[in-house]
Amino acid sequence: MSILDNVQEVTKRMEQASEKSSSEKQVQLIGVTKSVSSQVASELLAAGVTHLGENRPDGLLEKQAELGRTACTWHFIGTLQTRKVRQIIDAIDVLHSLDRLHLAEEINKRTDRIIDCFIQVNVSGEESKQGIAPEDVPSFLHEIGQYPAIRVIGLMTMAPLTEDTARIREVFRSLKTLQEEVKAKKLSYAPCTELSMGMSSDFEIAIEEGATFVRIGTTLVHT
Ligand SMILES: *Cc1c(COP(=O)(O)O)cnc(C)c1O
Repeated sequence: MSILDNVQEVTKRMEQASEKSSSEKQVQLIGVTKSVSSQVASELLAAGVTHLGENRPDGLLEKQAELGRTACTWHFIGTLQTRKVRQIIDAIDVLHSLDRLHLAEEINKRTDRIIDCFIQVNVSGEESKQGIAPEDVPSFLHEIGQYPAIRVIGLMTMAPLTEDTARIREVFRSLKTLQEEVKAKKLSYAPCTELSMGMSSDFEIAIEEGATFVRIGTTLVHT
C-alpha cells in the first residue's frame, strides 16, 4: 500500500461512516505526521490531504520549514507548554488542545491574530488524559471571553483506552451534546460548530457520532 492508497482507503471509510452520521457537515481529514518524515508529509499533501497535525512544536516547525507555511492548514494537536507559545503560535492555524486559562492568556499576549481553538475536554475522566472536565466547560468558556485572540471553534477529546466500542461511542456522544450546548449560547467568540474526535482506531465511530475533524496518523502513514 502506498500513501496514496492509504488516503483513498481512509477517505472511503470516512464517506461510509458519514452516511451513518446525522451531521450534515463535511468531515475534514487531518493527517497526523508526528511519527514520520517531511517526505511522507509531502506525499500526504500530494495525495490530496489539506490538513496536517503535529503534537510537538519542533515537529511542526520542521515540517513547515520543508513544506511551507501555506502548504496546508496546520493543526497543533498535542499539549502546548506555555513557554513554547511564543515560538510556535504564528505557525499554527488551529489549536486542538486549549485546556487552561493560562495558555489562553499567553496566546493572547503573543499574537495579533485570532487563533481558532478547540477546547480539549477530558470526557472519559482518565487521569492520564489532558483536558478540562465537562462540568467545568461553562465557566472556562466564560473566562475565555476576556482573551480576544481566542476563538473557540469547537471541542476536542480523545477516546478512552479500551476495546469497548460502546464506551468509546458514549464518550463521543457526550462531547457532541456538550458542543451543542456551547453552540446554543451563541457567544461571539465561541461559535463552537466543530468536533475534533476520532483517530486511527476509532474514527468511524467518531464520524457516526458527529465528528467534523478526525485526526489520523498510523492508518494513513503506515505502508
Ligand atoms: C498521535 C495522535 C493522533 C493520531 O493517532 P493514530 O492512532 O496514529 O491515528 C490523534 N490525536 C492526537 C492528539 C495524537 O497525539
